[in-house]
Amino acid sequence: MAKPSFQAPPGTRDLLPPDTDRMRQLVTIFASEAASAGFGQVIPPMFEDIGVFTRLGEASDVVSKELYDFEDKGGRRIALRPEQTASVCRMYAEQRPLTPWKAWYAGPNFRYDKPQKGRYRQFDQVGAEVIGSNDPDVDIELIALAARFFDRIGLQRVTLLLNSLGDKSDRPRYLDALRAHFEADLDALSEQSRATLQVNPLRVLDSKRPPDAELIASAPVIVDYLSDDAAAAFGRVQAGLDALGVAYQLAPRLVRGLDYYTRTTFEFAADGLDAAQNAVGGGGRYDGLIADLGGPEDPGVGFALGVDRTLLACDADDLFDAPDTSPEVWVVSTTDGFEALEVSAELRAAGVRTDRSFDGRSMKAQMKGANRSGAAVAVIIGADEAAAGMVSLRPLRTDDEQALVQRTELVAKVKEMLQS
Ligand code: AMP
Repeated sequence: MAKPSFQAPPGTRDLLPPDTDRMRQLVTIFASEAASAGFGQVIPPMFEDIGVFTRLGEASDVVSKELYDFEDKGGRRIALRPEQTASVCRMYAEQRPLTPWKAWYAGPNFRYDKPQKGRYRQFDQVGAEVIGSNDPDVDIELIALAARFFDRIGLQRVTLLLNSLGDKSDRPRYLDALRAHFEADLDALSEQSRATLQVNPLRVLDSKRPPDAELIASAPVIVDYLSDDAAAAFGRVQAGLDALGVAYQLAPRLVRGLDYYTRTTFEFAADGLDAAQNAVGGGGRYDGLIADLGGPEDPGVGFALGVDRTLLACDADDLFDAPDTSPEVWVVSTTDGFEALEVSAELRAAGVRTDRSFDGRSMKAQMKGANRSGAAVAVIIGADEAAAGMVSLRPLRTDDEQALVQRTELVAKVKEMLQS
């Protein structure tokens, strides 16, 4: 076959069935869990004024290196969204819905990342955000929602990592301690982390580069620097998760990749994936982000789960099969009339998944199509059947006899056969 002129850009994938079926099923389950917890769906635009995202923190890779940005024909500086929390906060600041505002979303994001398995330039997330409440019970409910979702899709080998980054006012003392720790042994750090240290010492904790591991493991932990308020909230989150039976591990050096987090931060790691790409989701509080975007001083908390990576984790554990979308019935017709069109339309209207052959194929070729399709029943209409107002129903997966039935009885008989 000749090589096509174009291929999907690096870091993107063409998704086809059954992957699309699994993805839709996953989003459907997330939607039902979110709705059951009082969340409404929002659909933010896929691109925003670049300022919406640069507010996320210039020190994070997502902003400094990975934004897809361009100038549009009106001279605006635009960026494709690298995540949706910032867009939801911008939406909140602009629309001012009643609080607490509980929003969920699903859709693609774009990051100019180095493509590899589980890391794409266009990837899908589902997520949920609650804006306008300081109550740590909200954090607990959000984490429980994510945990319930993983439970419903059957993914059991997933570990919840939990930390608190404290309030903005707790940060300077901790950053000083962190800086002093790393500066005491600068040579042990990777070159990139030495550069990161100058911009934001917190980000060094996020490094997965092997030379940094030792110094990170001995770094001071933020929980030792929490204000009384932040410590009490963190205690409540842990006790609440215990009360709900949601298992977690404390991860005192978990900082997450974006700069806006305060207080509760968490990540879900899939045990079945390689350590470098095992995060299937994460989130936390971002109490200053809405004000940074020019909105009110309202707090927020949320999470996003990577759809592509969650499905990879399911593959690793051999679960979450695609729902069956193959036809139940195949219509075979050798007449020149409209029978195949009419019968197909009638069955589809009755909710039966129905397909057929085209292009005037022979009876034999159409039956081959029927068998290949996975359908359980073939509806056969030849000239004789058409003239008599009848159809033949042939079971394709059993040795049962073919039956001749009245056209008027078609739907009832087909449904009977599908149920048996
Ligand atoms: P983040 O907010 O960056 O932690 O993203 C939340 C989740 O989205 C991650 O835990 C991943 O599962 C997923 N994710 C983030 N970036 C990518 C990417 N480039 N490709 C695929 N999934 C991603």
